[in-house]
Amino acid sequence: MENQVEEIKKKLDIVEVINRLLPLRKRGRHYVANCPFHQEKTPSFIVSPELQIYKCFGCGKAGDVFSFIQEFNRIDFREALEEMAKVAGVKLLNTFEDSREEKNKKTLLKINEEVARFYHYMLTTHQLGKEAREYLEKREIDEKMIKTFQVGFCPNDSRLITAYLKKKNFTEEDLVKTGTFGWSQYGGKKLYDRFSGRLTFPLVDFRERILGFSGRVLPGAKAEQAKYINSPETELYHKSQMVYGLNLAKEAIRKELSVIVVEGEFDMISPFGTGIKNIVAIKGTAFTEEQLQLLRRYTDTLILALDSDFAGNNAAIKSIEMAEKLEFEIRVVNLVGKYKDPDEAIRDDPDG
Ligand SMILES: [Zn+2]
Repeated sequence: MENQVEEIKKKLDIVEVINRLLPLRKRGRHYVANCPFHQEKTPSFIVSPELQIYKCFGCGKAGDVFSFIQEFNRIDFREALEEMAKVAGVKLLNTFEDSREEKNKKTLLKINEEVARFYHYMLTTHQLGKEAREYLEKREIDEKMIKTFQVGFCPNDSRLITAYLKKKNFTEEDLVKTGTFGWSQYGGKKLYDRFSGRLTFPLVDFRERILGFSGRVLPGAKAEQAKYINSPETELYHKSQMVYGLNLAKEAIRKELSVIVVEGEFDMISPFGTGIKNIVAIKGTAFTEEQLQLLRRYTDTLILALDSDFAGNNAAIKSIEMAEKLEFEIRVVNLVGKYKDPDEAIRDDPDG
């Protein structure tokens, strides 16, 4: 184990690893940045290429490449080791025994990956996805964006996907634990798929893990169906922590020194496709504290392009107060009266 830790460390340059997450500036023999672990306006976070360590003279946080990744991504040593092994191209020997909880999470992540692949295949290739394909075409979401966001379609007949997953040796109990499937109340023990008949969007976190899904109805759906639904809270998915698109936008956010915040999946995908890359969706009209803290690691400027109801919304006012406490600079793109949502503003073509 010790050997592998050293081997990975030797193959990595701490400056390169940190710079990818937090742009560093050269100053003398060191590199500096505003500390990601406390709020500050002048940099006291120092990285030493010679010693391969970092230290913040403001808050005292210090350590090596592993402790940085742990602290920055809020993961444990072992997850940091696995992540860095991948970056360094080192194959980890199986010296850890997964706890039951870990094993369980890994299984759910694998199922989610398969589900996303299945939905995506249905949308892009299968006859059953034709109507959904036509709808996306009408909304001017092109193939490249469909692929980038792994957009999918969930057919009405859930037997297709459950058969596919069972063939891959996943148990029905595990399928239910992902939140995508539930036991049907009618006709004995049958699984239903929560996203039946919907366009699907994998909810990917900043570490590229698919934690859950959201689904949008197609035109012509029954009026009582909610336009969007999300995975329920599971061992993996926590709605309050999800910032949609952050995995794809984080580098642009750092480069542009700001993040544009929109509400829903389409609001983000359309502008992203036109080249506006520093954009995320909060999947609602107000921030949670966790979402703000997550964004704060990448930038201190929020550009709000939320729904026209935003200003009158109590939850929104509260979230602005929270953002100010975290020393965000806040700008508002005013869409009031002109367009119902930012996606429309960008396409200039109102459609529900
Ligand atoms: Zn600090």
